[in-house]
Amino acid sequence: MKSEFVATVSHDLRSPLTLMRGYATMLEMVGELNDQQKGYVRKIITGVENMSRLVNNLLDLGRIEIGVGLQVEHVTVLDIIERVTSALQLQASQKNISLSVELPKDMPDAVEADEGLLNQAVHNLVENAVKYTPEGGRIVIRTLSQPGYLTFSVEDSGLGISPEDLPRLFEKFYRGKQREARSQPGSGLGLAIVHSVATNHGGRVWVDSTVGKGSTFYLQIPLTQPKESKTA
Ligand code: ADP
Repeated sequence: MKSEFVATVSHDLRSPLTLMRGYATMLEMVGELNDQQKGYVRKIITGVENMSRLVNNLLDLGRIEIGVGLQVEHVTVLDIIERVTSALQLQASQKNISLSVELPKDMPDAVEADEGLLNQAVHNLVENAVKYTPEGGRIVIRTLSQPGYLTFSVEDSGLGISPEDLPRLFEKFYRGKQREARSQPGSGLGLAIVHSVATNHGGRVWVDSTVGKGSTFYLQIPLTQPKESKTA
Protein backbone atom coordinates (compact mmCIF):
# COMPACT_ATOMS: atom_id res chain seq x y z
CA MET A 1 0.00 0.00 0.00
CA LYS A 2 2.84 2.35 0.88
CA SER A 3 4.46 1.82 -2.52
CA GLU A 4 1.17 2.41 -4.32
CA PHE A 5 0.61 5.59 -2.35
CA VAL A 6 4.10 6.79 -3.26
CA ALA A 7 3.51 6.08 -6.94
CA THR A 8 0.13 7.86 -7.04
CA VAL A 9 1.28 10.93 -5.14
CA SER A 10 4.51 11.23 -7.10
CA HIS A 11 2.56 11.08 -10.33
CA ASP A 12 0.16 13.82 -9.27
CA LEU A 13 3.09 16.00 -8.24
CA ARG A 14 4.71 15.86 -11.64
CA SER A 15 2.25 17.97 -13.61
CA PRO A 16 2.16 21.00 -11.26
CA LEU A 17 5.96 20.91 -11.16
CA THR A 18 6.17 21.00 -14.94
CA LEU A 19 3.76 23.94 -14.91
CA MET A 20 5.79 25.83 -12.30
CA ARG A 21 9.02 25.33 -14.15
CA GLY A 22 7.43 26.43 -17.41
CA TYR A 23 5.99 29.67 -16.06
CA ALA A 24 9.12 30.50 -14.05
CA THR A 25 11.17 30.13 -17.27
CA MET A 26 8.73 32.29 -19.21
CA LEU A 27 8.77 35.23 -16.75
CA GLU A 28 11.87 36.66 -18.40
CA MET A 29 10.29 36.49 -21.85
CA VAL A 30 7.25 38.61 -21.02
CA GLY A 31 8.97 41.60 -19.46
CA GLU A 32 12.26 43.08 -18.30
CA LEU A 33 13.46 41.67 -14.93
CA ASN A 34 16.00 43.37 -12.67
CA ASP A 35 18.98 41.39 -11.34
CA GLN A 36 17.33 40.62 -8.02
CA GLN A 37 14.21 39.30 -9.77
CA LYS A 38 16.37 37.19 -12.10
CA GLY A 39 18.11 35.74 -9.02
CA TYR A 40 14.78 34.82 -7.45
CA VAL A 41 13.58 33.16 -10.67
CA ARG A 42 16.79 31.10 -10.79
CA LYS A 43 16.20 29.98 -7.19
CA ILE A 44 12.62 28.97 -7.99
CA ILE A 45 13.78 26.95 -11.01
CA THR A 46 16.53 25.21 -9.00
CA GLY A 47 14.01 24.36 -6.27
CA VAL A 48 11.51 22.98 -8.77
CA GLU A 49 14.24 20.94 -10.51
CA ASN A 50 15.35 19.42 -7.18
CA MET A 51 11.77 18.52 -6.38
CA SER A 52 11.27 16.99 -9.84
CA ARG A 53 14.37 14.85 -9.35
CA LEU A 54 13.02 13.61 -6.02
CA VAL A 55 9.61 12.82 -7.51
CA ASN A 56 11.18 10.93 -10.44
CA ASN A 57 13.32 8.91 -8.05
CA LEU A 58 10.30 8.07 -5.90
CA LEU A 59 8.40 6.99 -9.01
CA ASP A 60 11.26 4.72 -10.11
CA LEU A 61 11.60 3.19 -6.68
CA GLY A 62 7.83 2.77 -6.41
CA ARG A 63 7.75 0.98 -9.75
CA ILE A 64 10.57 -1.36 -8.76
CA GLU A 65 9.17 -2.09 -5.31
CA ILE A 66 5.61 -2.75 -6.44
CA GLY A 67 7.27 -5.39 -8.57
CA VAL A 68 5.64 -4.39 -11.86
CA GLY A 69 7.89 -7.09 -13.22
CA LEU A 70 11.11 -6.79 -15.12
CA GLN A 71 10.84 -6.19 -18.86
CA VAL A 72 13.65 -8.59 -19.58
CA GLU A 73 15.39 -8.32 -22.96
CA HIS A 74 18.86 -8.78 -24.45
CA VAL A 75 20.66 -5.61 -23.51
CA THR A 76 23.85 -4.64 -25.31
CA VAL A 77 26.40 -3.75 -22.67
CA LEU A 78 28.10 -1.13 -24.86
CA ASP A 79 24.77 0.64 -25.44
CA ILE A 80 24.29 1.10 -21.70
CA ILE A 81 27.79 2.48 -21.24
CA GLU A 82 27.51 4.80 -24.22
CA ARG A 83 24.13 6.13 -23.14
CA VAL A 84 25.34 6.83 -19.60
CA THR A 85 28.63 8.45 -20.62
CA SER A 86 27.04 10.68 -23.25
CA ALA A 87 24.38 11.82 -20.75
CA LEU A 88 26.98 12.73 -18.11
CA GLN A 89 29.94 13.87 -20.21
CA LEU A 90 28.94 17.53 -20.03
CA GLN A 91 28.56 17.49 -16.23
CA ALA A 92 31.99 15.84 -15.94
CA SER A 93 33.69 18.31 -18.32
CA GLN A 94 32.23 21.25 -16.42
CA LYS A 95 34.20 20.03 -13.40
CA ASN A 96 37.21 19.16 -15.52
CA ILE A 97 36.82 15.49 -14.60
CA SER A 98 38.06 12.87 -17.05
CA LEU A 99 35.50 10.16 -17.75
CA SER A 100 36.94 7.06 -19.37
CA VAL A 101 35.86 3.53 -20.17
CA GLU A 102 38.01 0.39 -19.99
CA LEU A 103 36.52 -2.84 -21.29
CA PRO A 104 38.13 -6.29 -21.25
CA LYS A 105 38.39 -8.16 -24.57
CA ASP A 106 36.37 -11.10 -23.27
CA MET A 107 33.45 -8.95 -22.15
CA PRO A 108 30.01 -10.45 -22.88
CA ASP A 109 28.23 -8.40 -25.58
CA ALA A 110 24.84 -8.64 -24.01
CA VAL A 111 23.11 -9.46 -20.77
CA GLU A 112 19.47 -10.34 -20.01
CA ALA A 113 18.03 -7.44 -18.06
CA ASP A 114 15.41 -4.71 -17.90
CA GLU A 115 17.17 -2.15 -20.07
CA GLY A 116 15.56 0.94 -18.54
CA LEU A 117 16.31 -0.13 -14.99
CA LEU A 118 19.87 -1.27 -15.71
CA ASN A 119 20.54 2.01 -17.49
CA GLN A 120 19.16 3.95 -14.54
CA ALA A 121 21.34 2.01 -12.06
CA VAL A 122 24.59 2.54 -13.99
CA HIS A 123 23.60 6.18 -14.57
CA ASN A 124 23.11 6.75 -10.83
CA LEU A 125 26.55 5.31 -10.03
CA VAL A 126 28.34 7.46 -12.60
CA GLU A 127 26.29 10.54 -11.67
CA ASN A 128 27.33 10.10 -8.02
CA ALA A 129 30.96 9.70 -9.06
CA VAL A 130 30.73 13.06 -10.86
CA LYS A 131 28.90 14.69 -7.94
CA TYR A 132 31.25 13.49 -5.24
CA THR A 133 34.54 14.01 -7.11
CA PRO A 134 36.17 17.43 -6.86
CA GLU A 135 37.40 19.47 -9.86
CA GLY A 136 40.09 17.83 -11.95
CA GLY A 137 39.38 14.27 -10.81
CA ARG A 138 39.15 11.02 -12.71
CA ILE A 139 36.41 8.45 -13.23
CA VAL A 140 36.88 5.06 -14.89
CA ILE A 141 33.98 2.83 -15.87
CA ARG A 142 34.88 -0.83 -16.34
CA THR A 143 33.18 -4.15 -16.81
CA LEU A 144 34.54 -7.31 -15.24
CA SER A 145 33.36 -10.69 -16.37
CA GLN A 146 33.13 -13.67 -14.10
CA PRO A 147 31.49 -16.91 -15.25
CA GLY A 148 27.73 -16.33 -15.37
CA TYR A 149 27.89 -12.70 -14.29
CA LEU A 150 28.55 -9.23 -15.59
CA THR A 151 29.92 -6.62 -13.21
CA PHE A 152 30.06 -2.90 -13.85
CA SER A 153 32.58 -0.98 -11.77
CA VAL A 154 32.74 2.79 -11.40
CA GLU A 155 35.95 4.08 -9.88
CA ASP A 156 36.38 7.71 -8.84
CA SER A 157 39.16 9.77 -7.29
CA GLY A 158 36.65 11.64 -5.15
CA LEU A 159 35.81 12.35 -1.51
CA GLY A 160 35.53 8.74 -0.46
CA ILE A 161 33.03 7.47 2.12
CA SER A 162 33.57 7.34 5.87
CA PRO A 163 33.29 3.94 7.59
CA GLU A 164 30.30 5.16 9.65
CA ASP A 165 28.32 5.86 6.45
CA LEU A 166 29.18 2.62 4.66
CA PRO A 167 26.66 0.27 6.33
CA ARG A 168 23.68 2.55 5.60
CA LEU A 169 24.62 3.90 2.16
CA PHE A 170 22.05 1.87 0.20
CA GLU A 171 19.12 2.74 2.49
CA LYS A 172 16.34 4.97 1.19
CA PHE A 173 16.87 8.66 2.03
CA TYR A 174 20.29 8.01 3.61
CA ARG A 175 22.84 10.74 2.86
CA GLY A 176 26.51 10.70 3.89
CA LYS A 177 27.49 12.78 6.90
CA GLN A 178 30.56 14.44 5.36
CA ARG A 179 30.18 18.18 4.93
CA GLU A 180 31.60 18.25 1.37
CA ALA A 181 29.16 15.52 0.32
CA ARG A 182 26.23 17.35 1.95
CA SER A 183 26.93 20.43 -0.13
CA GLN A 184 25.75 18.49 -3.22
CA PRO A 185 22.02 18.41 -3.91
CA GLY A 186 20.40 15.03 -3.39
CA SER A 187 17.69 13.10 -1.61
CA GLY A 188 19.48 9.87 -0.72
CA LEU A 189 17.49 7.74 -3.17
CA GLY A 190 20.06 7.15 -5.94
CA LEU A 191 21.83 4.21 -4.32
CA ALA A 192 18.56 2.76 -2.96
CA ILE A 193 17.45 2.56 -6.61
CA VAL A 194 20.73 0.87 -7.63
CA HIS A 195 20.27 -1.63 -4.80
CA SER A 196 16.66 -2.43 -5.78
CA VAL A 197 17.63 -2.86 -9.44
CA ALA A 198 20.49 -5.20 -8.48
CA THR A 199 18.41 -7.41 -6.17
CA ASN A 200 15.48 -7.52 -8.61
CA HIS A 201 17.86 -8.98 -11.19
CA GLY A 202 19.28 -11.50 -8.69
CA GLY A 203 22.45 -9.44 -8.43
CA ARG A 204 24.14 -7.22 -5.86
CA VAL A 205 25.93 -3.92 -5.37
CA TRP A 206 28.83 -3.09 -3.10
CA VAL A 207 31.54 -0.48 -2.62
CA ASP A 208 35.24 -0.16 -1.71
CA SER A 209 36.15 3.29 -0.51
CA THR A 210 38.85 5.27 1.28
CA VAL A 211 38.15 8.75 2.62
CA GLY A 212 40.17 11.34 0.69
CA LYS A 213 41.18 8.86 -2.03
CA GLY A 214 38.03 7.75 -3.76
CA SER A 215 35.48 5.01 -4.17
CA THR A 216 34.76 2.10 -6.46
CA PHE A 217 31.16 0.92 -6.74
CA TYR A 218 30.40 -2.53 -8.18
CA LEU A 219 27.09 -3.59 -9.71
CA GLN A 220 26.91 -7.30 -10.49
CA ILE A 221 24.05 -9.03 -12.31
CA PRO A 222 23.65 -12.54 -13.71
CA LEU A 223 24.02 -12.88 -17.50
CA THR A 224 20.64 -14.61 -17.73
CA GLN A 225 17.32 -14.26 -15.91
CA PRO A 226 15.02 -17.10 -14.83
CA LYS A 227 12.48 -18.05 -17.55
CA GLU A 228 9.33 -17.01 -15.63
CA SER A 229 10.44 -13.37 -15.35
CA LYS A 230 10.94 -13.01 -19.09
CA THR A 231 8.25 -11.12 -20.92
CA ALA A 232 9.31 -11.90 -24.46
P1 ADP B 1 22.32 11.36 -2.88
O1 ADP B 1 23.46 11.44 -3.84
O2 ADP B 1 21.04 11.93 -3.39
O3 ADP B 1 22.67 11.87 -1.50
P2 ADP B 1 22.62 8.45 -3.03
O4 ADP B 1 21.71 7.39 -2.52
O5 ADP B 1 22.93 8.43 -4.47
O6 ADP B 1 21.95 9.82 -2.62
O7 ADP B 1 23.97 8.40 -2.20
C1 ADP B 1 23.92 8.31 -0.77
C2 ADP B 1 25.17 8.90 -0.16
O8 ADP B 1 26.31 8.12 -0.50
C3 ADP B 1 25.49 10.31 -0.65
O9 ADP B 1 24.80 11.28 0.11
C4 ADP B 1 27.01 10.38 -0.46
O10 ADP B 1 27.30 10.75 0.88
C5 ADP B 1 27.46 8.93 -0.64
N1 ADP B 1 28.03 8.66 -1.98
C6 ADP B 1 27.40 8.08 -3.03
N2 ADP B 1 28.25 7.93 -4.08
C7 ADP B 1 29.43 8.42 -3.69
C8 ADP B 1 30.73 8.55 -4.31
N3 ADP B 1 30.96 8.12 -5.57
N4 ADP B 1 31.74 9.12 -3.56
C9 ADP B 1 31.52 9.53 -2.30
N5 ADP B 1 30.33 9.44 -1.66
C10 ADP B 1 29.29 8.89 -2.33
